[in-house]
Amino acid sequence: MESMSAVLTTGETPFLGAYSMTQEKVRQEDKAPRENRMTVGVPFVDYARMTCRGVNVYYGEKHAINNVSIDVGRNEVLAMIGPSGCGKSTFLRCLNRMNDTVEGCRVEGDIQLDELNIYDKSVDVVPLRAQVGMVFQKPNPFPKSIYDNVAYGPKIHGLASSRAELDEVVESSLKKAGLWSEVSDRLDQPGTGLSGGQQQRLCIARAIAVRPEVILMDEPCSALDPIATATVEDLISELQEQYTIVIVTHNMQQAARVSQRTAYFHLGDLIEVGSTDRIFTNPRHRLTEDYITGRFG
Ligand code: ADP
Repeated sequence: MESMSAVLTTGETPFLGAYSMTQEKVRQEDKAPRENRMTVGVPFVDYARMTCRGVNVYYGEKHAINNVSIDVGRNEVLAMIGPSGCGKSTFLRCLNRMNDTVEGCRVEGDIQLDELNIYDKSVDVVPLRAQVGMVFQKPNPFPKSIYDNVAYGPKIHGLASSRAELDEVVESSLKKAGLWSEVSDRLDQPGTGLSGGQQQRLCIARAIAVRPEVILMDEPCSALDPIATATVEDLISELQEQYTIVIVTHNMQQAARVSQRTAYFHLGDLIEVGSTDRIFTNPRHRLTEDYITGRFG
C-alpha cells in the first residue's frame, strides 16, 4: 500500500455535490474531513447500467439511507463496503425492489435500469427481479432437485418452450456457474444435499437461468469456507464478462480481489466511490481511510 502521507494525485474527478465534476489534485491535507458527509470520488460512469439519484430509505422513522446517488457501470463488479449497519444491504435491496417486501420500509428517489424507472407504478417486480437477480448470504436452494432449482425460474417466466430447451437452459446455467461437471450425473438429487459452496453456485445458476442483466450479491461468501470462497470469487470474475455485478462484502480483501469500483458507506451516507485500486491505496475521505486501515468498523 502506498504511503498515506504521500501527495495523492489521481486522474479521478471528485464529486462535490450537484454532480459537479472538477479536476483536482488531492493531497493528504486536502482529504475530506470526517464531518463532511457528501460523496467524494466518482459516483457516475459514462455507460451506466443502473443509475441511482437521491435515494433515501426509511424504516418507519429511521432514516437508513441518506440521499445516495451512484451509477453501476456495465460489466463491472461494484463492491459496497462499510461497517456493519451502515446500509449496504438496504441499498442493495433497493436495486431490485426487494425492500418492497420489508414491512415499514419506504424508498424515495430515482433508480433506473437502463432507461426504466424501476419504481414506476407500471413495473411488475417479478420480471424485474429476474432482470436484477439476487444471491443471498446464506445459500437458499429450494427444497427441490438440482434440475428443478435451475428450471423453476425459466418455467415461470416462460423462457423455454420445450423440455429440450429447458434442459439446455439448465445445462448452460450450471456450466456458467461452474457447477455442471460436479452435478451433471445427479441432477435429480436434492439441491439441499450439496456442499455449502456448491449450493451457493446452484443459487447463482438459478439467478443466471432467467437471463439477468444485473446480479446482486449480499455477502455471498460469508457462509463458505476459504476454498469455496475462492471458487465463487473466480466465478464472479468470469460472470462479469456477461453481467453487471453489485456485491456487498465485509471482507476488504474480497472487495479488492473481485471488484473494479468500490463504494464506501458510513451510517447511511455514501462517503466515497472510486476505482477499487484507488480507494484502497489513496482514499480521499478520512472515514474511508479510517475504515480501510482498520481504525474503525
Ligand atoms: P449493513 O448491510 O451495512 O450491515 P443494513 O442495511 O442491514 O446495514 O442496515 C442499515 C440500518 O437499517 C441499520 O441501522 C439497521 O439496524 C436498519 N435496518 C435494517 N433492516 C431493518 C428493518 N427490517 N427494520 C428496521 N431497521 C432495519
